[in-house]
Amino acid sequence: MSVPFLDLSAAYRELQTEIDAAVARSLASGYYIGGPEVEAFEGEFARYCGAEHAIGVANGLDALHLALRAMDVGPGDEVIVPSNTYIATWLAVSQCGATPVPVEPDARTYNIDPTRIESAITSRTKVILPVHLYGQPADMDAILPIARKYSLRVLEDAAQAHGARYKGTRLGCHGDMVAWSFYPGKNLGAMGDGGAITTSDAQLADRIGVLRNYGSRVKYVNEIKGYNSRLDPLQAAILRVKLAHLDEWNARRSGIAARYQQGLTGSGLTLPFVPIWAEPAWHLYVVQHPRRDALQNALARSGVGTLIHYPIAPHLQQAYASAGFVKGQFPLAERIANQCLSLPIGPQLNEASLDAVVTAVKALA
Ligand SMILES: *Cc1c(COP(=O)(O)O)cnc(C)c1O
Repeated sequence: MSVPFLDLSAAYRELQTEIDAAVARSLASGYYIGGPEVEAFEGEFARYCGAEHAIGVANGLDALHLALRAMDVGPGDEVIVPSNTYIATWLAVSQCGATPVPVEPDARTYNIDPTRIESAITSRTKVILPVHLYGQPADMDAILPIARKYSLRVLEDAAQAHGARYKGTRLGCHGDMVAWSFYPGKNLGAMGDGGAITTSDAQLADRIGVLRNYGSRVKYVNEIKGYNSRLDPLQAAILRVKLAHLDEWNARRSGIAARYQQGLTGSGLTLPFVPIWAEPAWHLYVVQHPRRDALQNALARSGVGTLIHYPIAPHLQQAYASAGFVKGQFPLAERIANQCLSLPIGPQLNEASLDAVVTAVKALA
């Protein structure tokens, strides 16, 4: 049996009738930039997140970048980021000319360790940027008071956490702004690039609306040097279909995670830890193993597809060589990079495939 890590075409097949109709409707509308599909999706996604505003943009990196711009982050400023995250979190800070300041994660949840944040704050710090990594909510009630104490803004990177709940409340409305990606493999995935920012701050929402559209509110009147970063109406139409299925698909992910948790307890793997206040979106099911590469190769030979999120910590990437970080500086991030492995958890993973993965992992780990 062969089990792919993720089968995006199976997701399309499941919703093909609805998606094809949405695409046809969008094409017939005559709007190819902006328009009713984008506005409808923004309204529906804001409501889903419990936020006043959702502003569609071109992708998740732009969502982070424009959110930081809207908060006036620029050269000389510092932004606190996790030492273990997808590099987009750091790049958004760098794109503003600001400096990402890494903070190590909690070893069990993989999310930024709130007890380490205060010692990373300086007079230049402007924003704390937690990531809800792998779909697990970061500890917002520990992070937000630190931000208040030092008058910092909080931008959340929720690119992996659509639908996750923190203490019963869906993510999307805790910090000042929340950045989302609709990259196809995400829990709420488009069929191309897409992103959004949710916020309940009308002023910040207004600034994003101007920033994403050439710095213009009225056509050909440019208030600021803005960007072209818009959510495509075809993608918005598809996202409206998929948003209606998000909770059900997340429930399937949760069922798969429960099955792994039960079937793999007592194996040689470190399994995900979920605090009692967290309801993860289970974007990824990440285990750790001391001989990760050998395990990944053995699973591949058994037909089980896995991925590594992420094999190189951002501070050790060549892209950040000029920042002067050294190996060993962020040991938790480095250990996770060396030992983590993501098992298949897509909502279209069927029973037989799930059984096959559990059996293979138990035999090889
Ligand atoms: C996917 C992702 C992004 C970037 O999203 P794109 O839409 O690919 O630009 C940012 N942060 C995290 C944590 C992600 O997983």
